[in-house]
Amino acid sequence: MRTTYCGRLTAANVGESVRLAGWVNRRRDLGRITFADLRDRTGLVQLLFGSDDDALREAHTLNREDVVAVRGTVARRSAGNINPEMPTGEIEIHVDELKILNRSKTPPFLVDGDGTDTTEDTRLKYRYVDLRRERVQKALELRHRTFQATRAYFTEQGFLEIDTPFLTKSTPEGARDFLVPSRMHRGSFYALPQSPQLFKQLFMVGGVDRYFQLVKCFRDEDLRADRQPEFTQLDLEISFPSGREEIFDLLEGAVVRVFREVLGVELEAPFPRIAHADAIARFGIDKPDMRFGMEIVDVSPRVGESGFRVFSDAVHAGGKVAGLLVQGCSGYSRAVLDRLQTVAVGAGAKGLVWLKIEDTVTSPAAKNLSEQELRDIVDAFGAAPGDLILLLAGTGIEKPLGELRLAVARQESLAADAWKFLWVTDFPLFELDEEGHLTSAHHMFTSPHEDEIERLETDPLHIGSNAYDLVLNGTELGSGSIRIHSRALQERVFRLVGLSEEDARLRFGWFLDALEYGAPPHAGFALGMDRLVMLMAREQSLRDVIAFPKTANGMCPLTEAPMPAAPKQLAELGIEVSRMA
Ligand code: ASP
Repeated sequence: MRTTYCGRLTAANVGESVRLAGWVNRRRDLGRITFADLRDRTGLVQLLFGSDDDALREAHTLNREDVVAVRGTVARRSAGNINPEMPTGEIEIHVDELKILNRSKTPPFLVDGDGTDTTEDTRLKYRYVDLRRERVQKALELRHRTFQATRAYFTEQGFLEIDTPFLTKSTPEGARDFLVPSRMHRGSFYALPQSPQLFKQLFMVGGVDRYFQLVKCFRDEDLRADRQPEFTQLDLEISFPSGREEIFDLLEGAVVRVFREVLGVELEAPFPRIAHADAIARFGIDKPDMRFGMEIVDVSPRVGESGFRVFSDAVHAGGKVAGLLVQGCSGYSRAVLDRLQTVAVGAGAKGLVWLKIEDTVTSPAAKNLSEQELRDIVDAFGAAPGDLILLLAGTGIEKPLGELRLAVARQESLAADAWKFLWVTDFPLFELDEEGHLTSAHHMFTSPHEDEIERLETDPLHIGSNAYDLVLNGTELGSGSIRIHSRALQERVFRLVGLSEEDARLRFGWFLDALEYGAPPHAGFALGMDRLVMLMAREQSLRDVIAFPKTANGMCPLTEAPMPAAPKQLAELGIEVSRMA
C-alpha cells in the first residue's frame, strides 16, 4: 500500500514517485488547489491536490483523521511555502491518486494540539486517538528502546528471561492483593503477584543462577501520580553474589547502557552511595535529590543551653535544632515564609524559625537568642549577608526538613538539568507501621546484617538490613536486597512481624520448605520501568508513558473497567456481592 513513510521524505527525494498511507491531519482549500497534511508514525508531510480532478474533488471531502492512501510525486515547495518548523517542510507531494480507506468521526480533540483542548479522562477514553499524538508516540518508542536495551544487556550478562505465574498465591510487598476467584475451587482465590519475589528466589534454589524478567506487578493501593495498580518492573535475581556490589555493578551497567543507547547520554558510574541513616541525617529523606546541595545542618550543640526554650527544650527532650541555609534569599516575603512554614508543619514540625542575614540578623526569635548564639548559628551554616537560615526544633524533624529542602528547591528552581543517580544502602530491617506493629522496611525476605542477627529479637528496630534502593533525581527507581536463605532465620523474621507459626505455614510453607532443599545465597533487585521511562521522557505522570493506563482512582476510561460482574458469572464462582459501593 505504501512505498515509504511520511516523515522520511526530504528534498533528496524530489522527483520520486511515492505511495503513502495515513491519517489526514488537517486540510486547507485554496480555490483550484487543496492542501492536506498526511500523518503516520514518523511525522507529517504536505499533500497538494490540483493536478488530478478526481483526486481534487475527493480531497474536498477530507476531514481530520480520515484514513487515506495516496500516490504522487515528491516536489520541492515554492519558496514562499517552505516551512522550516516542519522536518519535511521543504517538500510536498503532488497527488495524482487518492483512495479514502476509512472515514473518521470528528475526533474529540486535536491530535496535533498541545493537549490542553481536553481533559485527561477524554484523552484516555479515546486513547486510540490520543496514541497518534507525537508526544505519546515518542514516549512509546522511548519505552520500546529502553526495554530492548535492557533485554540485550541482561542477556549478554548471562541472564535468562523467564516468566512467572500471575495466578498465584500472595507475594507481599506491603500493598493489598488483587484477588481472582477460582471457579473450579469455589471460595478459593488466586492473588495477582505484587512482584515475582518468591518465584525468583525459587529460581535460585532451582539452579537458574541468573534470572531477569520485564514483568507486570499488581498492587492494590491508593494511587498517586507515580503509582499504577499494574506496572512493569525489571525483576532480577542472582545466586552466589559476592555482595551487594555485584548487584550495583549489574544495574549500573544496565542503566549506563540504556541512557547511552536511548538518550545518547553518557552517565558516570559507579553511582555514589549513601547509608540510609546518613541520607536521613543529611537530606531528611531516604531518596535524596542530589541535583542540588542544601544539606541539613545540626546546630543542637550550639543552642542546647540557650535561653530560648524552643531550642533548649527540644535538645533536652532528645531532639534537635537543625536547618537549612538558603543562599541569597534573605529577601523572602512573609507570604513565601508562611508557605514554607505550612510545608514544615504539614510534615510534622511544630513551627519554623527563620533568620535573615543582612548587616544584622533579623528574626522573630532574635530577641530570645544572645548575640553569641546568633553568631554561632550563622557560623555553623557559613551564612553570609543576603542568606536565609530556616530552623526547626524538636524530635523527628528530619522529615519536615527534607520536605522543606524540596520546597525551597522548587521555589528557587535549584534542580539542575542533570541525571543524579544514588544508591541508598543499609536500610533498617524493620520499621513500625501505623498501628505500632513491627513490619519489614523492605520485605520479609530481606536479610539482616550478619553481625546483628543475635539482637534480632531483643532490639529489632535497630537491626540493619542488606537492602538497597536506586534513586534518580529524588525518585525511587527500585529496590532490592541480599535475601535470607535459611529456613530458621526466615521463620524468625516471620515471627517478629507477627506471623504466627500457623500463618507462616499456611501462607509460605511451600517457600519455607524450598529453603531446606539446598537454597544458595542469593540477591536481587527490581526497577520500575514505567518510572524510568517517565523520567527519561521528562514526563510528569506515569500515565504519559503507559499505553493504556488507569486513572488516579484505578479506572480505565477506555474500557470502563472495573465493572460489576454478570449474575451468571458470580453464580458460577459462588460469589454474592453484599453491597455496591
Ligand atoms: N520484590 C521487590 C519489589 O518488587 C524487589 C526485590 O527485592 O527484588 O520491590
